[in-house]
Amino acid sequence: MTRSQQYPHLFMITIILILLSINSVPSISAHFFHSNVSIPEDLLKNATSNPWSFFHQLSGCHAGEKYDGLAKLKSYFQYFGYIPNSLSNFTDDFDDSLESALRTYQQNFNLNITGQLDDQTVNHIVRPRCGNPDIVNGSSSMNSGKTHNTSSSHVHTVSHYSFFTGMPRWRKQALTYAFLPGNQLTDEVKTVFSRAFDRWSTVIPLTFTQADSINAADIGIGFYSGDHGDGEPFDGVLGTLAHSFSPPSGQFHLDGDENWVVTGDVRTSSLTTAVDLESVAVHEIGHLLGLGHSSVEESIMYPTISSRTKKVELADDDIQGIQVLYGSNPNYNGSSTTSVQEKETGSSGAHRLRSRWDLIGLIMAFGFVLLLL
Ligand SMILES: [Zn+2]
Ligand SMILES: [Zn+2]
Repeated sequence: MTRSQQYPHLFMITIILILLSINSVPSISAHFFHSNVSIPEDLLKNATSNPWSFFHQLSGCHAGEKYDGLAKLKSYFQYFGYIPNSLSNFTDDFDDSLESALRTYQQNFNLNITGQLDDQTVNHIVRPRCGNPDIVNGSSSMNSGKTHNTSSSHVHTVSHYSFFTGMPRWRKQALTYAFLPGNQLTDEVKTVFSRAFDRWSTVIPLTFTQADSINAADIGIGFYSGDHGDGEPFDGVLGTLAHSFSPPSGQFHLDGDENWVVTGDVRTSSLTTAVDLESVAVHEIGHLLGLGHSSVEESIMYPTISSRTKKVELADDDIQGIQVLYGSNPNYNGSSTTSVQEKETGSSGAHRLRSRWDLIGLIMAFGFVLLLL
């Protein structure tokens, strides 16, 4: 008589455990990290829609005429550098300054250069985006500032990466980063930033290590709501998502009112305003390292990103640009895809965890079998 015949209940438990370890593992579904949990209630905004969706009403407006809301659009263009700061007291007239801003904007984003508020342009203007300007002091870092402009023919073989004025960069290779203590971020969220830093350190000889003190760290990461003291207030859900400063500032600010997706597949999120945290983090780290915006739509440094979109893989344009500043990581194999490809799918984290639980379950089941023999 075997032990399993003597103790049929133990035998059954073992079988059940083995089955559980294979089929009923805990799975992770996408969830939303609301970074504003640590921000006092009275500071929270109740914005639930894109602050720029209003611009849809301006589609079809013509030069030389007057429309309610054009002054607001001019403020938008000024914020991102398309209308000089010397101009103020905007009117609702569709004047030359607006037409010029539109042309430059269309050129930078590879749109048809019409100088008009056509649907294609308006649909692009309302997209969520990085809060850093595309043009600083009249100097464009995108298509419009390039002498070898190819936007009209839509040829993307020319590099479009850009730098801040004076090409500032870090003068050391071992950088540290820390999080704003008041945000009380979970390890899960911090891991997203770690992955984002890894994408850059794969191609350049810099290292990024998490530190405890935000004051002592080279790069300080914080989620803020609305006005947060640097003259660049955040605007609630969508609109501007984050902004960051050139070296050696190291300030990395994210809009605490966004619906940041930390795990799972952002593309299948039920929330239309879901924004992928890692995608935005990879972009902002590009700024922190010295890159400006790029007109290459596939690049990480392209200024806009739609909600429910994941874009975390460095494009050749990003890699060429950052390697001009820092050189290549000696271990980098020259491929823009192989080193980070496994991190591309949103569900990969869940798969990894599931594998771990499979292993633990199997070990437990094996232990029970040993006990029975
Ligand atoms: Zn940006
Ligand atoms: Zn800020």
